[in-house]
Amino acid sequence: MRFLPALTALSLTTLGIAVASPPASAGGQPALGPTASGYGGAVATVDANATAVGLDVLRRGGNAVDAAIAAAATLGVTEPFSAGIGGGGFFVYYDAKRRSVSTIDGRETGPATMTEKHFIDPADGLPYDFAEARVSGLSVGAPGTLATWESAARKWGTRSLSSLLQPAAGVAERGFVVDATFRQQVADNAAAFGQFTSSRELYLPGGAPPAVGSVQRNPDLADTYRLIAKKGTGVFYRGAVGEDLVETVQHPPVAADPIGTWAYPIRPGTLTEADLAGYRLRYPSPTRSDYRGLTIYGMNTPSSGGTAVGEALNIIEKGLPTSATTTEKLHYYLEASALAFADRNRYVGANTSPAVIRELISDRWAGQRACQIDRTKALTKPVPPGDINAEGCTPATLGGPTEQGQSTTNLTVADRWGNIVEYTFTIEATGGNTMVVPGRGFMLNNELTDFNFAPTQGTAPDPNLPGPGKRPRSSMSPTIVLKDGKPFLALGSPGGATIITTVLQLLLNRVDLGMTLPEAMAAPRASQRNSAGIQAEAAFRTQYGPALTPLGHTFAADVAELGAATAIEFTRGGGFIASSEPTRRGGGAAAVVHPR
Ligand code: GLU
Repeated sequence: MRFLPALTALSLTTLGIAVASPPASAGGQPALGPTASGYGGAVATVDANATAVGLDVLRRGGNAVDAAIAAAATLGVTEPFSAGIGGGGFFVYYDAKRRSVSTIDGRETGPATMTEKHFIDPADGLPYDFAEARVSGLSVGAPGTLATWESAARKWGTRSLSSLLQPAAGVAERGFVVDATFRQQVADNAAAFGQFTSSRELYLPGGAPPAVGSVQRNPDLADTYRLIAKKGTGVFYRGAVGEDLVETVQHPPVAADPIGTWAYPIRPGTLTEADLAGYRLRYPSPTRSDYRGLTIYGMNTPSSGGTAVGEALNIIEKGLPTSATTTEKLHYYLEASALAFADRNRYVGANTSPAVIRELISDRWAGQRACQIDRTKALTKPVPPGDINAEGCTPATLGGPTEQGQSTTNLTVADRWGNIVEYTFTIEATGGNTMVVPGRGFMLNNELTDFNFAPTQGTAPDPNLPGPGKRPRSSMSPTIVLKDGKPFLALGSPGGATIITTVLQLLLNRVDLGMTLPEAMAAPRASQRNSAGIQAEAAFRTQYGPALTPLGHTFAADVAELGAATAIEFTRGGGFIASSEPTRRGGGAAAVVHPR
């Protein structure tokens, strides 16, 4: 969590932020806590600046879409290594009047010339190492984030994109206070940032990561936002900003005197101005499935989030006895998520047919998969994917790779009219492809490394190989849950493929384990993505390992943290509980217009 620089209780009040009893940060500045409840609208993000901006829009009469865009643009400034206009994402919107859920697919697209061999080194015919592919022009897809904001503002907002970019431009110009998370993200990327003139100038002042407590400014990004505000998004997709973006991809701004060494050649990419000009949003129907009387709306392809979350919940619902203990519930959570991952890897990619998607989240399929779970014994991982053409319990032949990541950011906004935005957006790895576009202040994505570099499914086709203009498969899972046709919960998280399990576990915690939303958010996490060992936070392993290990579950090495979620729960009488992380990723910031 970062605090607004030099912000007093008075200026917070002017901004419209409730300061009744804000927790004080180490520097004595008021801060927004991880949980807020009340009325009139709510915002939850990972960052106090972004939450404050979103809340201010709500207080001035903007709706959830307006607030989400303004907050997202601010996250592009304060969380530049997770998300921004150099990347893409998925925007899920619940329209209270129409009582309908819509989505925008702002996923990056590969170049029109991209082939299946995009990440194969022609010199030896082998896939590039991940780091070599990432820190290159090859990993950069045409960004969809700015187009997403523009489209959402036009379709559902009440303010212009131009006006919604202004608060973020102000934060970029004035700067924000560097916290330990920000500094660490730079430190983790220092070797790569140090190779590029633009990245090291912005993020390695004096050759080292910025000090905690220093003020980070980004005047180039302030100018870029203002230029877009003035000229429209055409300046990005078909104009001067886009030219600079493509130039960076095709001729990475490698420094003559790099800071530190980088182990790989820095390869140019092939994305063109025509690719950028040809970028198109998609508006897929959300995935829809039912769970214990709730209706779960998720993100359709090219994300695997909606199908994997939906399938796993269906499997749990089918198989888990109503009298289950906590251990049995967690056992089913882990088993269902391994099965859903096997199927995701086999079947889900950008071009998967709607019929297959429907099948994967059908009750019939859940039955076929749930019957493989043994109440008393964990399946050997990796489990094979199911055969979508068969009936009954018929395992096929092969597991899939597991992926992980910790980049990306998520925000949740609701307004007084009952509209909701759940938005996950990203530049893929923390630090994207590590190149700041010179003079423009934003980082490029490495989203194309979400493709499989080589086939993973043996003799079966791999749904996630690169192809011309194709979108890489995602795990982002912005999710909106209705109960009796009314909003109940909206949630999402970053974390690469662990996004799916974090969203699943939050739902399990809240719906099956009887936790409140803040408890569900704080509870320790584990992720079983169909590999031998469960990835877990130490607290989960300590708390539940003794009961799960005798069932045959094994744990891989502990991970420091999984996810950085945000969520809003809708309470009776039009109230909100806005919730973000108490500690993960430095802690998030939640706020409501009228605190209870
Ligand atoms: N690129 C990932 C995806 O779309 C998200 C990256 C992350 O959260 O680390 O699934």
